[in-house]
Amino acid sequence: MSMYTKKYKFTNIVDMMLSNPMGRPDHEPLFIDARTGESITQYHLHRLIGCLHAGLLRFGLKRGDTVCFYSPNNINMAPVYAGVMSAGMTISPANTSYVASELQRQLEVSEAKILIAHPNNLDIAFEAAAAVGIPRSSIFSVISDPKKRVPVWSDVLVDFDQPALPPIKMTHDDSVNTVAYLCFSSGTTGKSKGVMTSHYNCIAMVQESAVFSGLFADPSVKKVILGVIPLYHFSGIHRVFNVGIAQGATTVIVEKYSVTTVCETIQRFKVTDMPSAPPIIIHLVNNPKVDNYDMSSLKALTVGSAPIAASVVTRFQEKFKAALMQGYGMTEVSPAITYQLPSFARPDSIGRLVPMMKAKIVDPEGNELGNNQPGELWVKGPNVMIGYKSNKEATDGAIDKDGWLHTGDVVKRDEEGNFFIVDRIKELIKYKGFQVAPVELESVLMQCPHVADAGVIGIYDESQGTEIPLAFVTLPEKLKGQETVLASKIKEWVDERVANHKRLRGGVRIIDEIPKSAAGKILRRDMKAIYDKQQGQQ
Ligand code: AMP
Repeated sequence: MSMYTKKYKFTNIVDMMLSNPMGRPDHEPLFIDARTGESITQYHLHRLIGCLHAGLLRFGLKRGDTVCFYSPNNINMAPVYAGVMSAGMTISPANTSYVASELQRQLEVSEAKILIAHPNNLDIAFEAAAAVGIPRSSIFSVISDPKKRVPVWSDVLVDFDQPALPPIKMTHDDSVNTVAYLCFSSGTTGKSKGVMTSHYNCIAMVQESAVFSGLFADPSVKKVILGVIPLYHFSGIHRVFNVGIAQGATTVIVEKYSVTTVCETIQRFKVTDMPSAPPIIIHLVNNPKVDNYDMSSLKALTVGSAPIAASVVTRFQEKFKAALMQGYGMTEVSPAITYQLPSFARPDSIGRLVPMMKAKIVDPEGNELGNNQPGELWVKGPNVMIGYKSNKEATDGAIDKDGWLHTGDVVKRDEEGNFFIVDRIKELIKYKGFQVAPVELESVLMQCPHVADAGVIGIYDESQGTEIPLAFVTLPEKLKGQETVLASKIKEWVDERVANHKRLRGGVRIIDEIPKSAAGKILRRDMKAIYDKQQGQQ
């Protein structure tokens, strides 16, 4: 049976976001900027979305076109994302720390017609846009640009002169086939790719996860969400926008993470809920500055996007007397696969399967395994992406002919249905919840004049509680003998050419030969073994 047969009340995700199921008054702020105090009410959001929809059409965009957003967290994200999707167009949020070549790739793959960037990102935006032929007149600033290089998005793209347009009507099939978001992920192998997330994927996810986690259960509890995790990553989009808006929560947006900003904001706005990632939780547990703040408003936090140690979860709950629930998922699954609820939260588990999903745990030959046996997790459901944009080969490699998405994660499940992360067999490295694709770093390394061959692996850094990328390289014949000088030179060379989260924080190690299979495929397991051996000798 097709995974798309179930129909939901909504077909356009924007209708769902604006449905206001909690009946919140129109004038209450939905979004507040923690730094400036600027806010957007439910009424404003409605109007901005409808007038942006009209303005985009006037600007010449049509259904199916893409708008790229390249900024740190900002309260304008919600109206822009929703206005674009309301018009049946696609929003493609880019990581704010991208360098020009990385943004260029996203613009190329997404075929974006308009680029909206933060003033601090404009120079990179100009460079990347010029390389793909996007004219200056199609670049806008998210907030007013002190140097006035380009206009603010709302001055040109929002048409207040005409009646606000409602979200376009979609049939069930339109909802299944219309791309709402195009976020980027490397999946299980290769370079980053555009993940086509449909309206239907988002609606299924919100509808079913809200039911599952009882999120709508108690309308008398006023939720104040802290939006500090990146809102260009699907985990943030889902947890802060899709669920937050539908719940009628007030979301306080923080542009740049620091432990002090987070604590100040929690205290000032009496934050109840915080979607987080492991490094934030580790800071809150260990940083002594936290003790200077009143954190007693915190009730429920979710943590996901990367592994977290059970001991940290327990220490957090003891210190803050708040629930900390793990979730696990991936961009390709819009994004949740498993969730925890207070009734079955345990520090060592990633929770139980979200209700609309099917899962099986398999051995390397694809045979299904029983309880407590570790194997690769395969999943199926209405929240699984349409596929990778313009990349049938990668899509076919990710989703098999029977509709199972191969996660590349090794998990096990107990008799009660709790899932546990065991290992990761895909190439992906996760630095603080951000994706680092080893092949991308390898191709940068191969352009370095000091490198003959290269392979990249992830290693775990206990002190920071995250994986970090480490490169093994071989030197060209003529440079042999200069190992010590060149290792740090190569690291610097790469770090200047990639986004901050991809820097080679694990260092560069020079070896005689990169382990490869007969077919020339880099054997990352063997490189990990070399690393473990070297560590043992230190
Ligand atoms: P992304 O698409 O950036 O969200 O990355 C998805 C990948 O992050 C998953 O396939 C996992 O390898 C990893 N991941 C996500 N959530 C968790 C979690 N709670 N624990 C361990 N790894 C996780």
